[in-house]
Amino acid sequence: MNFPELAILKPTSRCNQNCKYCYDVKNPCEISLDEIKKIISYISQNGTKSVIISGGEPLLREDIGEIMAEIKSKGLNVFLDTNGDFFLDRLNEIERNIDILGLPLDGPSEEFSYRGKENFQNVIKILEHYKSKKERPKIRIGTVVTKENINLLEDIAKLIRNFEIDVWKIYQFMPTGPLATKNRAALEIDERSFLEAIKNLKDKNLQLNILTCSSESRKRAHFFIGSDGKVYVPEDEKGDCKILGSVFEKGTIEEWKRITDLKSYKENSEKVLYPLSLEEH
Ligand code: SF4
Repeated sequence: MNFPELAILKPTSRCNQNCKYCYDVKNPCEISLDEIKKIISYISQNGTKSVIISGGEPLLREDIGEIMAEIKSKGLNVFLDTNGDFFLDRLNEIERNIDILGLPLDGPSEEFSYRGKENFQNVIKILEHYKSKKERPKIRIGTVVTKENINLLEDIAKLIRNFEIDVWKIYQFMPTGPLATKNRAALEIDERSFLEAIKNLKDKNLQLNILTCSSESRKRAHFFIGSDGKVYVPEDEKGDCKILGSVFEKGTIEEWKRITDLKSYKENSEKVLYPLSLEEH
């Protein structure tokens, strides 16, 4: 069985934040470290080569260091997607096993942050930590563009140019998940406005590696393993998701392949792993 090369593993659905645009569908179930190890072993044997550790906030798991070490020990690339609030506190446990570090920035200053002032400062502290450090993971800043911050992109660019950023990934807000769906009217922008804003940004030749992700290009384009260990697909325009089943059941991956837009999945995976193709700094 050929498994998807890139998996998104959500070891927890818990989060200390409550972002207006959050896509996550909360699931109180949380699989054990042993179960996670079995899943990692199985997917790596069947062709998965890279894992995004996402959430919720993955650093709320006590055993996140062991989870990351396990993924790395199987020879897989590890992409840690975190809101940054606990990163520096847990550096010793996790840093050696990160290939790509994904951090959020919604605005150019603490005055505009969907996660509050403290989170903005925490993210900046991490960027300061890696400034001029030879040994560091590739860093990807993620910005979700909404009606509220679409005019702030150039200022965000000016801010992140002060740091060692490998990729700036800019997402169009996507109304998926209970919170994002609830806040849809306040946040949603159409694809044309989104692409126009990105084009204007790129025309300014800001010397940043910018990757663009429209919401259309992300529909049914990921391989998620939820905090209950089940493979699922987020449902568009709704607050829930379609559970496909255990990774160990043959039919689960077949069903995933049947309902996934495999071309978009491949393109999205290439974008996620793009930082690894960049030259060493
Ligand atoms: S977007 Fe991320 S940080 Fe914000 S509530 Fe959702 S999981 Fe937490």
